[in-house]
Amino acid sequence: MEVQFFCAKTLEEALALLQQYREELLIVNGGTDAVLSITEKKVSPKAILQVSRLPGFHDITAVDGRIRIGGGATYNELLASPLLAGHRGLREAVSHLASPAIRALGTAAGNICTAAPAADAAAMLYALEAEVCLESAAGQRRVALRDFYVADRSYATVRRPDELLTAIEIPALKAGDGTGYCRLSRRKAQDIGKLLVGVYCSFTGSGISHISISLGAVNASLVHARALEETLVGKTAAEAVACARETYPVEAKLRESYFKAYKQDVICPAVSRAIAMAAATA
Ligand SMILES: Cc1cc2nc3c(=O)[nH]c(=O)nc-3n(C[C@H](O)[C@H](O)[C@H](O)COP(=O)(O)OP(=O)(O)OC[C@H]3O[C@@H](n4cnc5c(N)ncnc54)[C@H](O)[C@@H]3O)c2cc1C
Repeated sequence: MEVQFFCAKTLEEALALLQQYREELLIVNGGTDAVLSITEKKVSPKAILQVSRLPGFHDITAVDGRIRIGGGATYNELLASPLLAGHRGLREAVSHLASPAIRALGTAAGNICTAAPAADAAAMLYALEAEVCLESAAGQRRVALRDFYVADRSYATVRRPDELLTAIEIPALKAGDGTGYCRLSRRKAQDIGKLLVGVYCSFTGSGISHISISLGAVNASLVHARALEETLVGKTAAEAVACARETYPVEAKLRESYFKAYKQDVICPAVSRAIAMAAATA
């Protein structure tokens, strides 16, 4: 079968192609997941659309108290952005992801759209209460990352086949805000994480006024540790670190796997460690 290859030069061109080919088109950004899906014959698209050269697609900008990460921004671009210099959790999630070669090409948008349960950037962006901007020829919409994934299904999102993820928005951190990330894996490089924890919290006075915790690689999709968050609000940093070490996040169902017992043992210390990092950066 002949495959059409397009390298879109404008957003309008990209959206028109998405509208024309829909499910039969594969978007390629950095290509680190998408190209593998073709070579492993998981997909057989009629058309491939390269989007990484769209104008402004790599920009990382400050907009109305938020930070807007373009849909084509690579991990290295995230790490180089002065706007993200204080985002310790995001930097931690991205700087240990895969390998230098993957970080030069791979994007946070691609990580989100692949929707793997052990997606590092997506797990931290989930904790940061990120929103994704989706554009199609029919218009734009914004979706909270927490609602972007189909619960309990890996590799499934609510993105329509004619939509392009054009940007990710996260809060700019204020005084008293901190972020942390803990990733447990067998090796430090080139290894998918066995357990991921993202934390975003705000301190007012000495107590936690708001906290958001994400867990990756525990369920089929990323998980929001809502019950634990409720337990931690009002606690000091030291109390929260101690409490998380003893309190199992009930939303982590831990599917049957070779690593289940290990994950059960380390999940509380991992959450506690991510909270300690967030508190130290607040
Ligand atoms: C050796 C290796 C090691 C890896 N290690 C890790 C790791 O440790 N942690 C981790 O989280 N990931 C890891 N990955 C996975 C991968 O690198 C990341 O998920 C990466 O962020 C994907 O981004 P990309 O730009 O390359 O996406 P692509 O491969 O271009 O696309 C991925 C998917 O998203 C869709 N897509 C991409 N951009 C958009 C958009 N703007 N709008 C709509 N749909 C879009 C594509 O159609 C495709 O389905 C690894 C991959 C490899 C090959």
